[in-house]
Amino acid sequence: MTNEEVIKVSNEVLAQTYGRFPVVLVKGKGCRVWDVEGKEYLDFVAGIGVCNLGHCHPKVVQAIREQAGKLLHVSNLYHIGPQIELAQLLVKHSFADRVFFCNSGTEANEAAIKLARKYSQDHYGPGRYEIISLLKSFHGRTLGALAATGQEKFHKGFEPMMTGFKYVPREDLAAMEAAITEATCAILVEPIQAEGGVNLFSENYLKGLRQLCDQKKLVLIFDEVQVGMGRTGKLFAYEHYGVPPDIMTMAKGLAGGVPIGATLAKDEVAKSFTPGSHAATFGGNPLSTAAGVAALRATIEDGILENCQRSSAHFLKRLEELKKKHSFIRDVRGKGLMIGLELDREGKNVVTDCLKKGFLINCTDETVLRFIPPLIVTPEEIDRLIMALGEVFSTWSWS
Ligand SMILES: *Cc1c(COP(=O)(O)O)cnc(C)c1O
Repeated sequence: MTNEEVIKVSNEVLAQTYGRFPVVLVKGKGCRVWDVEGKEYLDFVAGIGVCNLGHCHPKVVQAIREQAGKLLHVSNLYHIGPQIELAQLLVKHSFADRVFFCNSGTEANEAAIKLARKYSQDHYGPGRYEIISLLKSFHGRTLGALAATGQEKFHKGFEPMMTGFKYVPREDLAAMEAAITEATCAILVEPIQAEGGVNLFSENYLKGLRQLCDQKKLVLIFDEVQVGMGRTGKLFAYEHYGVPPDIMTMAKGLAGGVPIGATLAKDEVAKSFTPGSHAATFGGNPLSTAAGVAALRATIEDGILENCQRSSAHFLKRLEELKKKHSFIRDVRGKGLMIGLELDREGKNVVTDCLKKGFLINCTDETVLRFIPPLIVTPEEIDRLIMALGEVFSTWSWS
């Protein structure tokens, strides 16, 4: 089969919700993937921050194989071993006391929204339901998480949006404070905005949000769906800033490639979820949580975070060198292996040219090339990408 043959069928039978690149990927190992024609690519997308351990990490694959032969699914009407084990690990390594499992990032945020409302209404009465999030944020595509997402382009055509959400400019504490009313129950932010263009916040800003939440008795929710699980060089991005949230959502990298979502909370807040108040049939399923246990263990025990930090320093240095050579590069920024290179023009052609050269990269917010490779990426692999990028930048006719 060729890429073209498969893509023809794909275009006939799939909902066209993605603008897909013209390759069919069939195999992966570490930082490499192969298409149906056998062409090899170095992967700097990693399933958009899902494959943090690389493709088909042996420990994750083994855990899935073993669990698949034992027990695939039972209802949450019963206790599930790997689910308990994964929750224990998450609690041990984070600010949180309790975990609710679901299947995706957007679902984790839905649970966070519901929990924040329930907690606030349990404690402060029925008028507290409003959540303030940021412009340029991304929290998911289901209607609650979509309403929380501060980007009009995602709302278009799906109005009316669910009420009870408002958005303020990022890195602006005064705007946040001014937006808080009697109805506010929570502030929801990504500690680093990923889809919005790899936007970092100052420690002062995140600390300021924590203070505002403490003063006004609001729930601070961090969406770590993309930046959690070691992506930034620490297990969770909030650790860089010393600002623990009350609720945190995760998903992408949590189970090494298997669908999963999790909403973590302090006990005081988590207590507002009682039997019957929220549920997910597949949430915390034996298969996905067994994969999660293997992935989290490997992330903590196998030097993944250290490699992420080392490779990050090398990557940022090499990108800074490129920036010195090309005036159309506006900015290089990032933390760990969540790295953005902002151009003064659209970046999608750079992505296509890199694909032809055998490199998967991604562009977000139109002008920001985003690099989110597996956290096991080596300096040599980074150098290969830098060379390809250099070629693309010097041959591209920037008209
Ligand atoms: C990807 C993402 C989501 C949505 O996750 P899905 O699994 O696609 O529903 C939510 N928040 C952030 C920060 C994300 O990057």
